[in-house]
Amino acid sequence: MDTELTNKLSNELRELGGLVNSQLGYPDVHPAIRDSNICSKLTEKTIQVVDFLVNAPHAPAKIVAQKMGMSREEIKLAYKLIQASPELTERFRSSPNNDYLNIVRHYFNTEMYVVVFFVGMSCPGRCIYCPNVTVRPDGSRFLSVYRGRKDTIPGAKTIARVFDDLDSIRLGGVLPLVKISGGLEPLTDPETMSLILDEAEEKGIRVKLFTNGLLLNTPERRRLALRASDIRISLNVLDEHKYDHIMFGKQNATGEYSLTTVLSNIGHMVNERDRLGLNSKIGLNTIVLEENHKDIVAFTGLAKNLGLDFIDFKPNYFQQYSPETQAAVCDTITRLHHDWTRYHPDLFFAGSLFKENVFWTHREGVCHPHKQARFKMFITPFGKCSPVHHGAFPSSDREVDERYTVGQLLPSHGLIDVLNELQPLPDIEFDKLNPFEHMLALEIDREEQDLSWGIPPDYNPYNFPMATSVPPDFPANPVLKQIVTIRG
Ligand code: SF4
Repeated sequence: MDTELTNKLSNELRELGGLVNSQLGYPDVHPAIRDSNICSKLTEKTIQVVDFLVNAPHAPAKIVAQKMGMSREEIKLAYKLIQASPELTERFRSSPNNDYLNIVRHYFNTEMYVVVFFVGMSCPGRCIYCPNVTVRPDGSRFLSVYRGRKDTIPGAKTIARVFDDLDSIRLGGVLPLVKISGGLEPLTDPETMSLILDEAEEKGIRVKLFTNGLLLNTPERRRLALRASDIRISLNVLDEHKYDHIMFGKQNATGEYSLTTVLSNIGHMVNERDRLGLNSKIGLNTIVLEENHKDIVAFTGLAKNLGLDFIDFKPNYFQQYSPETQAAVCDTITRLHHDWTRYHPDLFFAGSLFKENVFWTHREGVCHPHKQARFKMFITPFGKCSPVHHGAFPSSDREVDERYTVGQLLPSHGLIDVLNELQPLPDIEFDKLNPFEHMLALEIDREEQDLSWGIPPDYNPYNFPMATSVPPDFPANPVLKQIVTIRG
């Protein structure tokens, strides 16, 4: 056991005792270790709890307690200690499950509500890996598009109503975030994009835009995109021929779109952003594939040359890497970490790039999708709402899975109406969820199980800002009383 860490934790435990004393308003506070044996046993157990949770962040407290031979009261104290300890929180931050932590930080700590508008009913691409694309035996590619009447696309009044509701949600202390995404390609419907951006600007709500960059080929469209605070361009290949093969196959006979077009569009947009003095962050969303994993460093060089702000590297969620590729990806990431300062763009590597990530190690199970509506909503180009990506995305064998539609937005029927009318939805298998939905489902479940075992959310071991708040039952914790002298 790491003695230095144990000593640090003992000090942090003392500070927790001091916090209890000061919050109870006791004069002459002097927390002292009464029983150093109990104290060091608990700190050692807490380190083991963290080592366990780093690999299984979704484990409910009851399971952790059984594995570690701890009582519920000891677990509560350990969780409070984890929240308060920079040493322990760093173990989570530097682990392959750090994105689990990000999910908790976004949705539980900051209390964020995310609305994802799937704008656009088509796409100029025919990506070979797109769940929306069917590759026929003759090699031609078929794209499933949204089908519906144009006159049912949400207009200005419907979109204004959504933003009014987001404003009300914000008044309740929850931070709204809007994403304009696909679905298919948002820039195939610049009118709807413009309506969303108008409302977001008026209400001061942040917007992230996700695009493949192919249609950023006019100053008007680039100017429109630059109204978002964060622009993420999907780019997975650095070779012109591979790009053509992956993005289009035989469908690019005219050669209208190419890697050169996208890079030129991005370059123009960065220049225009700088010339106009706008603050939008522009970066790449890059899926690390078997075919491109050797290009990770080259992507960072490209991003630097283009003047980009970040690259978000993610895995292909439908396929795990071969052991050789996995090892090479890990090695590259480690090397980049060592030499971080050389790379101007911020580099983000999703935890799900690693096989130890809970997205891969805990694939069995189902999500109760209506529970995700507390945190996010996807809206199809026709204003139909679904709390899960699967319920809003058209696929090759059907349009949208309407079993997961929870309502339709209209000028007279807003987001809050949809939420108020929410009914339980059929379960959905984990393997139909993207990583952030999967981790959100696991965390919702973990918190519910903890609550039913008598551990309220203030003890959430990943909710670090809770470190300085003492839950009402905390001072009465019998283990804490054995450790810390509370003097009145
Ligand atoms: S750009 Fe996106 S939506 Fe279009 S085909 Fe490719 S993956 Fe599918």
